[in-house]
Amino acid sequence: MNQTLIIVGAGHAGGRAALTLREEGYSGRLILIGDEAHLPYERPPLSKGVLQGSTDLAECSLCDSARLAALGIEHIAGNPASRLDPQHHRLQLADGQWLTYAGLLLATGGRARRLPQEQANVFYLRTHDEALALRNELKPGARLVVVGGGFIGLEVAATARGLGCEVTVLEAGPRLAARALPPMISEALLALHRQQGVDVHLNVALECVHADAVQLVDGQRVPCDLVAVGIGMQPNIELAAAGGLEVGQGIRVDACLRTSAPDIYAAGDVCEFRLGGVYQRQETWRNAEAQGRHAALNLLGKELPFERVPGFWSDQFDWGLHSVGAMTARSVSRALPDGGLLLFCLDTNARLQGAFGWAPGNRAARDIKLCERLITASIALDVASLADADTSLKHLLRG
Ligand code: FAD
Ligand code: NAP
Repeated sequence: MNQTLIIVGAGHAGGRAALTLREEGYSGRLILIGDEAHLPYERPPLSKGVLQGSTDLAECSLCDSARLAALGIEHIAGNPASRLDPQHHRLQLADGQWLTYAGLLLATGGRARRLPQEQANVFYLRTHDEALALRNELKPGARLVVVGGGFIGLEVAATARGLGCEVTVLEAGPRLAARALPPMISEALLALHRQQGVDVHLNVALECVHADAVQLVDGQRVPCDLVAVGIGMQPNIELAAAGGLEVGQGIRVDACLRTSAPDIYAAGDVCEFRLGGVYQRQETWRNAEAQGRHAALNLLGKELPFERVPGFWSDQFDWGLHSVGAMTARSVSRALPDGGLLLFCLDTNARLQGAFGWAPGNRAARDIKLCERLITASIALDVASLADADTSLKHLLRG
């Protein structure tokens, strides 16, 4: 009987799943298929340390090649899965070979959404190779236009300022990272970027990119040497969709991360799962890490529902943003003595549903960890205490 487990996508979620399968004692054949030339790596450093030149690929990798070999994980690099045949439990690689599986995990992530027009001075940032290409151009005094005021755009802007570039950010919406952040946090980010000399334009529409400028629809020209684009990511769902699996904005899964084919799971950025009753994808490190691990356990037959509270962080200049849970219509803020802030998102019964922390360095991380415990505890909270910086969150947790 074929006992082979295959993972398509040798990124964060796929790599974590492969390592977890071995940690959990799976000793059968295990194949990890990637389209990049590299070992599985984490992407957060790409817009931070890698772009800055302080972090190399080995430091981002989930493991080295010796460990993969010692664990008997067959890593096929630079040879993507091109066809999926769920009926016969097999898939085909770009080089033509077919592989048969007993269980399959799709962790194909996503790619940077591109502008309609290709241009030599336009850069994207999803992969390590793209980070190196952009880094080569970020010389002191270079005029960089960043298209998109989401996380990629803001982190690239901050890193490029640190490298001495002149930076302009063009955001289509009325505020920064509007899908992921509440208005108060968007404003705090905007204030810091402007204070650091980033020229941020909101509500702007891009017409086209020239070799020496970006042309806006309203007729303005923004002169530049290069353009970095961060206008969102497109999930890699094509393999699953062509194989007949159910897809929406991602590969649809049930509570156990199982797709519409019983022996195929999905995890990470590409996985569309129900959260709070609504199908959604989470494009975060924490989700890739947790779902990669979780899918591995379920590939081994554990049947565990995935229940992790979502969360993410972002580093910009020497400030850190930390978040857990979900945004709601009702929020309470707490000013922190170091100039930072905490924002608590409550339901109608004053129970915590989500929280955002913005503070110098990593200082908000601890509070956000406590907020996660408050979310799980699901207790009604006193609004005045939440707003008061002298009331410790630990105290609120004790009820
Ligand atoms: P990926 O890491 O994209 O891996 C998927 C892999 O599958 C890729 O290598 C892809 O090329 C490959 N693949 C696709 N199709 C095929 C195929 N047919 N065959 C074989 N291989 C295939 N999150 C945070 O929470 N905090 C951060 O600070 C943060 N910073 C980030 C910075 C950058 C620049 C980027 C790009 C992302 C950042 N993220 C951050 C998000 C986080 O990195 C992603 O959520 C995470 O990488 C998702 O992991 P994944 O394994 O689902 O997808
Ligand atoms: P994003 O967070 O979705 O932000 C894209 C931003 O660009 C949005 O504000 C969007 O506005 C705007 N936009 C879209 N089209 C535009 C256009 N033509 N001109 C100007 N602005 C435009 O995506 P991203 O920043 O590109 O990040 C890509 C992926 O990397 C995501 O998965 C993200 O989560 C991940 N990432 C995460 C982190 C982190 O968590 N710290 C850091 C870096 C990257 P609308 O929303 O109005 O469309």
